[in-house]
Amino acid sequence: LDCSTPPMPWFGMDIGGTLTKLVYFEPTDGQSAAEADQEQETLTNIRKYLKSNCAYGDTGRRDEHLQMDNVRMGKRSGTLHFIRFPTSEMPAFLELAKSKGMATLASTICATGGGAYKFEQDFRRVVNLQLHKFDELDCMIHGIEHVEDQNPTECYYFANPGDQSDYTTCPYDFSDPYPFLVVNIGSGVSILAVEGPDNYRRVTGTSLGGGTFLGLCCLLTGCESFEEAIALAAHGNSHNVDKLVKDIYGGDYTRFGLSGDIVASSFGHMNVSEKRGKVSRSDLAHATLVTITNNIGSIAMMVANSHNIGKVLFVGNFLRVNQISMQLLAYAMNFWSDGKLKAIFLQHEGYFGAVGCLLELLR
Ligand code: ADP
Repeated sequence: LDCSTPPMPWFGMDIGGTLTKLVYFEPTDGQSAAEADQEQETLTNIRKYLKSNCAYGDTGRRDEHLQMDNVRMGKRSGTLHFIRFPTSEMPAFLELAKSKGMATLASTICATGGGAYKFEQDFRRVVNLQLHKFDELDCMIHGIEHVEDQNPTECYYFANPGDQSDYTTCPYDFSDPYPFLVVNIGSGVSILAVEGPDNYRRVTGTSLGGGTFLGLCCLLTGCESFEEAIALAAHGNSHNVDKLVKDIYGGDYTRFGLSGDIVASSFGHMNVSEKRGKVSRSDLAHATLVTITNNIGSIAMMVANSHNIGKVLFVGNFLRVNQISMQLLAYAMNFWSDGKLKAIFLQHEGYFGAVGCLLELLR
């Protein structure tokens, strides 16, 4: 038995403002007899529980489609499992962990995200666990580099970003990555310029992020979840809500190359009661999504241009099941840069912080 590696179970946890992301590593490279003997019943139970179903309580989910097999983690190889639950459910999660016997395991949990600080005392009190805390942006960058290294199809882009009705994507070869920009769209947004390994800066951010989309959408449409908000948006038309260039000019604003179909004023029709009477909940959801997405896209563009960076990686759970925003970002980056900028998306969207955190456990 190799004593230089930490005891199982191996977890990485990213406790964000909205969602907690949990990455669990299950070794599959064959246990040594000694290791099997040593495996406590508790550990076997935890392993069984995590793999038994896709739902943990009412609100937890295992993203089975993201599972990674034959992954190298330190000296071991095995499967990575991806699990998430709302951070608001942390008390229930801690009770569950306690009931599964986590308190009796002498394990270390590496945690990142603001919640690693906020919930530190609760982890100690309820499950007797000492959190090892790591910076969320360090973890995210390490996570991106590790996952990308293990999964040849992690990065992808839209083949025809100029055609918003064409959903075709292609794998992006990220073997020569630097420099690149990372736009992490979580509850809020952080933008990082990555110049080389362990050489990055947080350039800027905006508080108008995924949390803003969801919050405004709940206010405007009465929807109750992110999935519902996205489904509404898919059937809406933001043109009923936004004021376009042609609504002001009657056509294009040719002198400065602005087509009539460009949004001049987001939500700009909504001061008129007659227009308000005509919009649907779906139109409002779509307009909210387009407003937030285009604002992030335009900030990302400015940062990319001012730093002379041509590759922009978009990550974060705002992009989960959110084809509309990905397509819009790909389109906007391509259009406003005359094809010089490339929008790149990653399959594991919001899980990089948690993966990077797991890597810290093995350092
Ligand atoms: P954070 O670390 O701030 O929690 P995430 O990267 O996990 O950030 O992204 C959170 C955002 O993802 C939310 O603001 C929302 O826009 C979106 N989202 C995607 N799926 C969900 C979900 N099931 N519940 C809530 N928000 C979700």
